[in-house]
Order: sequence, then C-alpha cells, then structure tokens
Amino acid sequence: MHKVFLLKGKEKPVLHHHNWVYSGAIAKTEKGITKGEMVMVCNYEGKFLAYGYYNEDSKIRVRLLEWDELKVPNEEWWEDKINKAYALRKAQINEQETNAYRIIFSEGDALPGLIVDCYGDYLSAQFLTAGLEIRKEMIVSILAKVVQPKGIYERSDSKARSLEGLTESVGLLYGELPPSDLKIMENGLWMNSPIVEGQKSGYFLDQRENRKKVASYAKGRKVLDCFSYTGGFSIHAKKAGSTEVWSVDSSAMASEALSSNFINNQLPYEQEHIITADVFQFLRNAQQEKKHWDLIILDPPKLAPNRQHLPKAERAYKDLNLQALLLMQPGDLLATFSCSGSVSLDHFKQILAWAATDAGKELQFIEDFGHPIDHPVRAAFPESHYLKGVLARVI
Ligand code: SAH
Repeated sequence: MHKVFLLKGKEKPVLHHHNWVYSGAIAKTEKGITKGEMVMVCNYEGKFLAYGYYNEDSKIRVRLLEWDELKVPNEEWWEDKINKAYALRKAQINEQETNAYRIIFSEGDALPGLIVDCYGDYLSAQFLTAGLEIRKEMIVSILAKVVQPKGIYERSDSKARSLEGLTESVGLLYGELPPSDLKIMENGLWMNSPIVEGQKSGYFLDQRENRKKVASYAKGRKVLDCFSYTGGFSIHAKKAGSTEVWSVDSSAMASEALSSNFINNQLPYEQEHIITADVFQFLRNAQQEKKHWDLIILDPPKLAPNRQHLPKAERAYKDLNLQALLLMQPGDLLATFSCSGSVSLDHFKQILAWAATDAGKELQFIEDFGHPIDHPVRAAFPESHYLKGVLARVI
C-alpha cells in the first residue's frame, strides 16, 4: 500500500480520529497513487497513523476510515461497517411507525462521503467522493446483501462531487426503480417520497423527530409552515390538532405532493392554503394584508453553503426571522431552523435575538432542536452537526 507522510506537528487531528487530511498537512506522498486508492497515512517519521482513500483532485487529500493498523479496509471491513451502522438504526427506530431513516451518515458513521437512506423497500444512496466512486459496485452489493431492498437508486447529484473532480451521477444501481408514488411512513403518517424526482435523497428525513416535537405545540393553533416541501411539518401539525395549516414553498411539485399527503392521511385541508411562492415575498405580503398565525415554522434550505458565505447567510437568516416576527403577537410561537453547518446553535440564537430587537419583540427560547438518532455526530467530527433549531415564544 502506498504511503502518505504528514508534516511534523500535523498528526493531531488524525490521532483524534478526525476523518479529513488536508493537502496542507502533507509533507510527501509516494509516487503512483491513483484517484480513490487506499493509502497508509504516516507521521513524519513513517509511523502508521490511519488508513484512508486518496484524491489528488481534492483539497481534502485523504479521507480516513480506520485507525487500527491490523484492520485494512477491504471488502470484509466495509461489510462489517455497513452491518454495524444498519444494526444501530434497526435497534433505535420503531418500525411500527417509521420505515424511512438514514442508514449511513457519512462521517457520522466514520464512512466519509457515503450517505444511504432507507425508504421502506428502497434505498437512496449518495457517493460523494472519489474513493467511494471506485468502490460503488462493491458497496452496492454489500447493501443489497445486508438490507435486502427491492431497489437501490443513486442520487449523487450534489455539488460536493465537483470538489472531488467528479460529475453528478444519478440512476438505478440495483433491483427495481422506486415508483414515483412511493409512500413512506413517518411517525405513523404516510408521506409521498419520490426518490427519483424529489429534492435531496427524496425526503428530508433529518426533521422526523423535530416534526413530532413542533407538532406537540400545534393543537388549537393556526399554523404557517414556510419552506414546507411535501408537508412534513404541515401534516404532523394537522394530525396533532392544528385548526388551520398554511404551507408555502417555491416548488410546485412539492406543493402537489403536499396536497396528496393530506389525502393519504385522511386529513382535511384547504387547497388555497397550499401556496407556491417565495417565502420572503409571502411574509412581506402577509404583513401588508395583516394576516396572522399563532405558530410559524421556518425550515429554509441551507443559506450558508460554507464559511465564506456566512456573513451573507447571517443577513438572510436574520431577515427571514425578522419578517416572520413582524407578523407575531405575544403568545405566538416560532419554530425556526438552520441546516447550515457553519452556523452554530448559539450563533443562530444570537441572530434571532438581533431579529427580535429589530422587530420590536421580546423572545423566549422554549426548546432547542437538533439531530435525530439516525444522523449521529461523532465526537471526533463535530462538523457533521448541521441541523439546529429553536422553539421560541413572543412575550
Ligand atoms: N420543511 C420541509 C423541508 C424544507 S427543505 C420538510 O419538512 O420536509 C427547503 C424547501 O425550501 C424546499 O422544498 C425548497 O423548494 C424550498 N425553497 C427554497 N427556497 C425557497 C424560497 N425562497 N421560497 C419558498 N420556498 C423555497
């Protein structure tokens, strides 16, 4: 196996089991390493530190997989890791009420770049690195063996691939094509989850537990679900006894799926409360029209793709929450989220405090929201904690 030698003093993150080795930490590499090849990462003296796969085209030159020199990551190793990740979910998820969950969460399961979601009988998979690209066939056959799905569909249409010198890749990898009317069960509710046509891997599985928590505040309240997608929060809120649910999203396809999710769950709804619009504009119009809801949910897409975009994203989060707060009265609730990894929960709360000041409102933080059990964060890789939110009350 080829070796990669780190600069003196650069081994600390590796010793802490962080998964990434940046190009700047490397002193020299042996000649002839091909894209995605497994290498041995050594300290400046040549002492073994970890195994990982290499990519000359990425700033993250090596992604580390294993720190035990005796456990070379071969096919057996991959099968063992995938088996363990799957067993963890099987033990944690109540399959009587939920059949869609993340089986592999990239660095959270110490398998950098690999994301696999279970949608009932089907799997949706993302292979986001060169090291995974060349092992795709092997990983697919292990997934087929371990999980025994009807089909495995690839959704590697993520911008992250270009940072690895890879193009986007989508398509059927194994078995049958997931049907476009595929429904999954989440917390006992049936949700349309089009793996092929939908956003991301088909559905936003990461909000499963937060939907339940937010719904626990919805009884008797008129709810506005902003960035509703196929209605994860809307359907949970209605089921929990919300008097009226309004849902706003810019995607017409998502709004259509949302209507059918009300029907799937035999819940009454008003077609005119399912609105295809820009949320920022909708909230401004609602102020002029003096509209009012007593629980507003804000679950925007990632507004800060990375640290460079932070100042711009900070302004966007502030503006969004400000527009919602301007509609609110004492006693009203705001469930607001950020899925930008570079914005911490404390930072997010600071932004909310600024928005509240500008809106002339006093805010109380009632409950914090984070990751569900199937999106675990390894202590050695805190960067994978991207989802955070709060339930706040205007007083
Ligand atoms: N709350 C959803 C997930 C939201 S994902 C759930 O529980 O499943 C973000 C959503 O925001 C996507 O559906 C996307 O179509 C929508 N979106 C992005 N920008 C928007 C904008 N400016 N106005 C309205 N919707 C937007």
